[in-house]
Amino acid sequence: MHKGDKVLITKAGKYYHYMDDDCPTTSRILSGRTAATKILETEAKRRGYTLCRHCAKEYAEDLAERKGCGTAAILFLTAGISAFSAWVFY
Ligand SMILES: [Zn+2]
Repeated sequence: MHKGDKVLITKAGKYYHYMDDDCPTTSRILSGRTAATKILETEAKRRGYTLCRHCAKEYAEDLAERKGCGTAAILFLTAGISAFSAWVFY
């Protein structure tokens, strides 16, 4: 799912997105409804972009599936996403 280290950034957003997941923003970009630029993930971070929480969730779930230790990973993920959301929105 997450191959290579290129990510998508939009002009207006503060977040970067992985290219192949179920993120609503990525799907808008891939269908041409939102303009985006492809840059390296390291470069996106350096410019102050944050991984979009939809993409973070999909990516973490994907990792959990691949490792085959779903339960622990999902618990960890749930806590992580809650903390991340709190940090972003409050
Ligand atoms: Zn995203």
